[in-house]
Amino acid sequence: MTDRVAVVGAGQMGNGIAHVFGQHGFPVTMVDVSAEALERGRSTIEKNLDRQVKKGAIAASVKDDTMGRISVSTDLEAVADAGLVVEAATERPDLKFRIFSDLDRIAQPDAILASNTSSISITSLAAQTSRPAQVVGMHFMNPVPVMQLVEVIRGLATSDETTQRVLSLAESLGKTPVQVNDYPGFVSNRVLLPMINEAVFCLMEGVGTVEAIDTVMKLGMNHPMGPLALADLIGLDTCLAILDVLHQGLGDSKYRACPLLRKYVAAGWLGRKSGRGFYAY
Ligand code: NAD
Repeated sequence: MTDRVAVVGAGQMGNGIAHVFGQHGFPVTMVDVSAEALERGRSTIEKNLDRQVKKGAIAASVKDDTMGRISVSTDLEAVADAGLVVEAATERPDLKFRIFSDLDRIAQPDAILASNTSSISITSLAAQTSRPAQVVGMHFMNPVPVMQLVEVIRGLATSDETTQRVLSLAESLGKTPVQVNDYPGFVSNRVLLPMINEAVFCLMEGVGTVEAIDTVMKLGMNHPMGPLALADLIGLDTCLAILDVLHQGLGDSKYRACPLLRKYVAAGWLGRKSGRGFYAY
C-alpha cells in the first residue's frame, strides 16, 4: 500500500513518524495547528536525514526523495485523500476526542484512523467516530527513526483487518510491531512510567541527586539512559499526562504523579523541548 499517509501533529513524534513513512516511499501530509511547528518539524526531518546520510545509513538521493514526499498543511481538511491517518497531537483527551470526531468527518470512509497516544484509551477515541473498527493505536517510540518497536493497540472494536493492515504497515517501515490490548498505558507506559515516577520521588525525598539516580539505573540495571534523562526526552508534560491517565483509569494510588513532577510542569520545565527539565539543555 502506497496510499497517502497523513500525520496530525508535527511535534517530536509527528515529524519522526512523517520521516519514516516518507523514507519508505509513502507520500505524507503533515498537519499541525501551528505553522511554526510545521516549519520546525520539516527542518528536524531534514537534519535527521542529513545525519543518516553522513553516517552512510542512506544515500543522499533518499534524503531528497523523502523530503520531496512530505507536504505540510495547517488545515485538517488536508487528510481527505489519506488511506491512513496517524494522530500525534498533544496528549490531551479533550483535544484528541475533537480531532477524532473531525477526522471521521473528513477522512475517506475506508481510511484507518490511528493514534500515537501514549496512554489515552483507543476504545474511547474510536467511540468519537462512526468507524470504531478502523481505529487503532500505532504507538511509535521516541526517537521514531531510530527505535525498533511499534506497539499496536487494539481497541474494543478494532477489527482483525485493521490490526493486520497496521501490523504489516509497521513492518514495511522496517519496524517490529507488537500487538497489545487497550488498557491504560498499554504495556510500554504501564511499566515505564511508574519507574520514572519513582525516580522523581527519590529526587524529591533526597534519596539521591539527579546524576546519582540516573547513574544507579544506567550502571546497575544496564539501562541505556537513566529514568530522569528519559523523562526529559519524553517531555515532563507528557509523563504527567500519562500518569494521570494510569491513576484515573486504573484507580490505584500507586500511579499518583509525584508532586515534584507536577511542580516542574507547572513551571514550564518540560525537559529537552523547553530547554530545562531535570537537566539543563
Ligand atoms: P509535542 O508537544 O512535541 O507535539 C505535539 C504537536 O501537536 C504540537 O506541534 C502541537 O502544535 C500539535 N497540535 C496540538 N493540537 C493540535 C491539533 N488540534 N491539530 C493538529 N496538531 C495539533 O508532543 P509529542 O511528544 O510529539 O507527543 C505527541 C503524541 O505522541 C502524544 O500523544 C504523546 O503522548 C505521544 N508519544 C510521545 C512520546 C514521547 O516520547 N514524547 C512517545 C510516544 C508517544
